Amino acid sequence: MDSVPYGLLTMRGRIGQPPRPRQANQHFVLHFGDSVRLLITGGAGFIGSNLSRLALENGHDVTIIDDLSTGYEENLSGLDVRLVRGSILDPESLMQAVDGVDSIVHLAALGSVPRSIENPVASHAANATGTLLVLEAARSAGVEHLIVASSSSVYGMNPALPKSEREWVRPMSPYAVTKLASEQYPLAYQQSYGMLTTAFRFFNVYGPRQRAGHAYAAVIPTFIDALLGGESLMVNGDGSTSRDFTYVGTVCRVLLDTCERRLMHPEPVNLAFGTNTTLMQLVNQIEVTAGRSAVIEHREPRPGDVKHSQADNAVLRSLFPSIEPVPLERGLQETIAWFKEIKQ
Ligand code: NAD
Repeated sequence: MDSVPYGLLTMRGRIGQPPRPRQANQHFVLHFGDSVRLLITGGAGFIGSNLSRLALENGHDVTIIDDLSTGYEENLSGLDVRLVRGSILDPESLMQAVDGVDSIVHLAALGSVPRSIENPVASHAANATGTLLVLEAARSAGVEHLIVASSSSVYGMNPALPKSEREWVRPMSPYAVTKLASEQYPLAYQQSYGMLTTAFRFFNVYGPRQRAGHAYAAVIPTFIDALLGGESLMVNGDGSTSRDFTYVGTVCRVLLDTCERRLMHPEPVNLAFGTNTTLMQLVNQIEVTAGRSAVIEHREPRPGDVKHSQADNAVLRSLFPSIEPVPLERGLQETIAWFKEIKQ
């Protein structure tokens, strides 16, 4: 098999089966066509279960660690994955999960700004301490490559638009602080221990398996669920708040490509494509796609929420030149189709 040609920021690695012993700081040679043994923390959640599907479709091997606190085992139904039911805060479960893997995609976290405002200690434990424990488990098991999910919320009070990765950060919620820690630890591990890490700042990710009907649900599933159920759509503020929505299939493509190429990057990378859709534009697009009219009610803006969020995507584009994002219209079609399926 031919060796993969690498860009400046890509490190070499050997990927293959069966499991083999590793030594600290040992570098591998990556070959085309070999499967990656992936550990996806939080793999029973929205993004993790979509990534699991994509990884399996591409011939990779998937292990998941998930405590099912916000994820669902049924998200994994029919998938040939190894599931460690346990918390990343539990060292025994974590060591079991990292055993024999090539790359870790670290998604496990307690999401949501309002949840963190209600219980900052729980968010800190899962998101900040949890990331540190995952890194330590990776280090002791000799797993060199790790990707982490950070968040656009780290920009917080910075009004610059679009947000470039070198802009200053000023979190407005405990959640955003935990995400800042969870991106900076892996980046520091590059310098401290030579780990190959990449920290992605997700913006608003949406798509199938993102659930509505709970207190901390995201806006797109909440709107779709309300519309299909004949209920009013509750818009926070006047509807001019804007977001950079990214379809989950696009996010997963970037994450998998990062693992297949064992890519690392020394600074955080925005994982969004620079769109800005206001809440009212979103409502209109959902109405058109679903073929139904919505009844809209406005309520107070939520504390901790930023007014506008839009990514500068130059770094993302330079690292992943061949990945084209799924447009909002098509992503909403897929998402609405999934909601209709689960409602039957
Ligand atoms: P999700 O809640 O659907 O998935 C998170 C998963 O982590 C769940 O399955 C949950 O059970 C699991 N989990 C939580 N705490 C755990 C613990 N202590 N041990 C083991 N498993 C644990 O959320 P998601 O939307 O799929 O988000 C995935 C990641 O992306 C998170 O890190 C989140 O902060 C980040 N992110 C998501 C978005 C978005 O728009 N969805 C935006 C920014 C960042």
